[in-house]
Amino acid sequence: MSYFQLSPRLKEYLKVVEEETGMPVKILGRPDLGLTGARAAFNYHPLYTVVVLNSSEPRLSEDLERSVAHEATHGYILHKLGYCRAVFTENASEDVKMKANLLFSLVEDLVVNRIIQENGFPPFGTEYLPMIKKEIEVASAGENVGEKFYSQFTSDLELEDIIMVSRYILSWGFLRYYPLSREVRLILQEFLEVYSKAYPHHYPHAARVKEIILENDVFTAQGECRAMQEIMRLWGFEGMVKAVSTKHPTY
Ligand SMILES: [Zn+2]
Repeated sequence: MSYFQLSPRLKEYLKVVEEETGMPVKILGRPDLGLTGARAAFNYHPLYTVVVLNSSEPRLSEDLERSVAHEATHGYILHKLGYCRAVFTENASEDVKMKANLLFSLVEDLVVNRIIQENGFPPFGTEYLPMIKKEIEVASAGENVGEKFYSQFTSDLELEDIIMVSRYILSWGFLRYYPLSREVRLILQEFLEVYSKAYPHHYPHAARVKEIILENDVFTAQGECRAMQEIMRLWGFEGMVKAVSTKHPTY
């Protein structure tokens, strides 16, 4: 790729991912990743770990670097650790597939960000805290203002709910499972607090997902597979999607 030079640290990390999974990492650039604002994605492939970067959005090289490490780690937990991915029945619509995949990513991200942090990459990008501060502001102004803010990413109300739930879970996960500075913790705590008060139509979903994660240790493949089956039920997707591990067919 011409627009992105891999640093020695990232090269080293990708080499470990390739060795551990026995699969080459492929980094591709695309001008559009489907969801507004999406900057990078992991695409499942049985033979490769595929990382797709949004080539139309300029970003700081440290964020690009972190994104590549993050997406490649999705491949690592699937292919090496046997985490479950979503496998769909024939009657699943593209809409259900996209939403279910987002919910899988949301839970996997708790694991992926911790692994990259343990490997010397920042657990979140430079865009994250400024965004959370903005989200504190809109939540403080009430549910209507908040929903209007999140509607910039999608006009689909169910997808908007999933995005809002994922914002809560991501912050909650950082607070619960990561070593972070006091300053960062205070910002995340404030976000969770205003969120729980501001969003009576979304917080109950976030709270239920949080419970499911607490009941099933998602830092193990078995726990994640079980948690995902329950989360699929929560959204009514259970007849259309199965949580399937490539390594542990019995889950
Ligand atoms: Zn991710």
